[in-house]
Amino acid sequence: MNPKIYLSSPHMGGSEKDFVAEAFESNWIAPLGPHVEAFETDLEDYLGEGSYIAALSSGTAALHLALILLGVKKDDEVICQSMTFSASANPIVYQGATPIFIDSEADTWNICPEHLERAIKDRISKGKKPKAIIAVHLYGMPFKVNEINSISQKYNIPLIEDSAESLGSSYDGQKCGTFGDLAILSFNGNKVITTSGGGALVTKNESQKKKAIFLATQARDDAPYYHHSEIGYNYRLSNVCAGIGRGQMQVLDDHIALRRKMNEFYFELFQDREGVTVFKEPSDRFYSNHWLSCILVDEKRSGYKAEDIRLELERSNIEARPLWKPMHLQPVFKNVPFYGEKISDDLFLKGLCLPSGSNLTQVDRDRIRHALNKFI
Ligand SMILES: *Cc1c(COP(=O)(O)O)cnc(C)c1O
Repeated sequence: MNPKIYLSSPHMGGSEKDFVAEAFESNWIAPLGPHVEAFETDLEDYLGEGSYIAALSSGTAALHLALILLGVKKDDEVICQSMTFSASANPIVYQGATPIFIDSEADTWNICPEHLERAIKDRISKGKKPKAIIAVHLYGMPFKVNEINSISQKYNIPLIEDSAESLGSSYDGQKCGTFGDLAILSFNGNKVITTSGGGALVTKNESQKKKAIFLATQARDDAPYYHHSEIGYNYRLSNVCAGIGRGQMQVLDDHIALRRKMNEFYFELFQDREGVTVFKEPSDRFYSNHWLSCILVDEKRSGYKAEDIRLELERSNIEARPLWKPMHLQPVFKNVPFYGEKISDDLFLKGLCLPSGSNLTQVDRDRIRHALNKFI
């Protein structure tokens, strides 16, 4: 059997081991140390726009702290894109608040501005103004930043940008992660860069960054003994993991270029195929890191389903996966309000994520092309 080709696997640049060795030699094997701060600086320089970074143990932890910083409490409502990974929505529930899910629009697959505004008006008319909006740049594709930002400003509801999948993507030349009142990044094993596990909160000022780090390190007040006036969390990134992150930052842009090449590879493969479309930027205002390359299969025109392709690839030991199943279709959220039509339902039925890693070789691409032969 050929070795397995994964959707998106870790891709080390080479210097990560040196940074980790440095952590061992200096004995900074802790959730603090010089790599943590240096990794934060690397990310601040990369994002620009006066961003401040708090390095954390996961993207989920970053979202949780974002909600706490915005004062989200029990029985509040928080708007969230329905088509996403569950980690976008779960922290709302950690706070005892209720998610309000919004459908996608067809161009970017992200939160639909019309349904978003309709939902906000409806919640306000019910006496519940939402406390925050969580919008996601899914698969690296920026959401409609102008439209979403102006709704956030018009109703004065803070925007949390879930940039877990979109480090290096941009809109009108400005990096994703710098548009929201707060934003989050993820460095999980399958993301564009990885620290094995990790994440970050992006803030607009130093006091928010400090507050996030305070909450992430058990909310210890300034005293020689342990003194607490707030509930804290153990959410800081470890110095060893941050060392991996510093190495990954050196190759981030190269790896994005390779992911974009994978997207081009699929585009060329399927371009003459009736009924199969490769997910691309709707205009040149959008620049996607193409974290995952995805296709939509219209069975009526193609004669086969996305699932047929998935099974065929599986027979060749190649991983492919349906798109994120929208949150409004998840049993755990079955009683949660949803505003939309069936755009995300339809995307889920027709979509498929294909192997997209920056470490895929020509041999891998030949195997993928060969396995897809009967569809192309
Ligand atoms: C990966 C991911 C997260 C969560 O990040 P973790 O670091 O895995 O906790 C949140 N939102 C989206 C859209 C993601 O893809």
